This record gives sequence, C-alpha cells and structure tokens, in this order.
Amino acid sequence: MQQEVIQQVTPLVRRITAANPSVFTGPGTNTYLVGNKEDVTVIDPGPALAKHIDAITESSENLARILVTHTHPDHSPGVKLLQDKIDIPAYGFITKTTENQDPSFKPEKILSHGEVIKRDGYSLEVIHTPGHASNHLCYLLLEEKLLFTGDHIMNGSTVVISPPDGNMQDYLDSLEKLKNYDLKNIAPGHGELLPNPHSVADWIIDHRLERENKVLNAIKEAGSGNPDSLVKAVYDDVDASLFPIAKWSLEAHLIKLETEERIYKEGNKFFWKES
Ligand SMILES: [Zn+2]
Repeated sequence: MQQEVIQQVTPLVRRITAANPSVFTGPGTNTYLVGNKEDVTVIDPGPALAKHIDAITESSENLARILVTHTHPDHSPGVKLLQDKIDIPAYGFITKTTENQDPSFKPEKILSHGEVIKRDGYSLEVIHTPGHASNHLCYLLLEEKLLFTGDHIMNGSTVVISPPDGNMQDYLDSLEKLKNYDLKNIAPGHGELLPNPHSVADWIIDHRLERENKVLNAIKEAGSGNPDSLVKAVYDDVDASLFPIAKWSLEAHLIKLETEERIYKEGNKFFWKES
C-alpha cells in the first residue's frame, strides 16, 4: 500500500495511510477523510508524523472536526499536531488507564454511544465498542452503511486484547453489538475495506471461542498454568516470535474464564476447575 497518498475508497470517503507499518499496525494506520466539498471529518489522524499530518491538511480546505476511535499511540497523537496547524475541535472518548495510552489527547467533547454527528450530505453515528480498549468507538457513515472500526476489527491481523484496559468478554459483546446495525462494508484502522461486516464479526467471534477452547484444554492437560507456560500449547499455529504479543490476549482469555468461574486463580497461576 502506498503511504501518504490520498485514495478515494467510496464516494464520500478518502483514505491516507501513515508511514508506520509494523506487526501491530499492518501497512500503517489509516486516516479517513469523510465528507464533501463543504465539510470534512478526519477520523484518526494517526501517530505524530509531520509528513502524514501535512498530507491531511493538504487534502482539503474544509477540515471541520477530528474523531478518534481510541487513544493508542498509533491512532491519536496526530490530533495535537493537526490542531497546531489548523484550529478544529477533536471528539472522542477517554479511559482511566495510562498504560500504552496517548496522554496528549484532550478532546473538546466526549462523545456518547448512539449520538449522531449530522452534517450537510452525511451523518456519522457513534457506537461504543469496548474490548480492544475501554474507550474504543466505531463510527457508522449512515449514507454508505460504512463502518469505521479503528482497531476493533482490522484487515489482515488479529486484534490484540491487552488487559486491564483490554477485555475479552467486552470485545466479544462489542462484536455482537455490531450485528444490530445495517452494514455494507468495514473501513478498518489498518488494511483495506472489508465486505460482509456481519459475517466478519461472526468469524472473529468463532475464532476467539476456538482459541478459548484451546486455553481450557491446555489448562486441563497441565492442571494449571499462566500465559508464560501456556502460550506454546495455545498458540501452536503461530510463529514463536509473536508469543510476547499472543500472551496479552491469552491473559485476556484467562481472565474471562476466571470471571465465568470455569477456572480459578491462586498466586500467579490459573487452575483447572472440575465441573
Ligand atoms: Zn489500538
């Protein structure tokens, strides 16, 4: 994917991908420009990369507001850089966590679930989708049934759920929640557009529950364990170089199973519970 190049992805939406490719960000963070000649909304200005922010300001003369899906370092630090160049407000949601968060994000307005930002020619509905991050929001462009999913759904890589701000049960519930909406396509924070949003949500839920079963089986087999001791058995289909990342999601699975009282915790170990 070419970075810092403006691509028209639908009649109302353009995209610029930031030059921050990595194992977490795929080809880089997508910034979306939504709207028309009169009024443009910027979704996720991305990391603090001056060249990327220049590409955003050069894209339109009528940038009117910034929306943020969540405040991880690859999504929101660009807000401050953008606001240093042009005087427009930023909206989003905040979190109590400080770990792996962008402390510079100070929204002019805190959005709430169900709120609709209505402009001439387009409207964006706010959908609260905790799981990847407690303050994660998706935005639905009603005219195109296009859902901006940030890191709730990515194209090409599995979303990391890192406790305590990340929560596996919330993540699954937020995927179910999306199925209540009439959706045509997904515009993810990383990667290309995805069709069939409801099937995508179902596939991810199934995939996570399969992984959860592997966690249960691994604990049953070993009698007890923690992310360090279980990662090899649970992620036997994943390259060992990714184990440090996989361990976060594994911990999220263990916390979910403990909450459901299917396993229990003593010290730093989780134990199989006979039912
Ligand atoms: Zn994120």
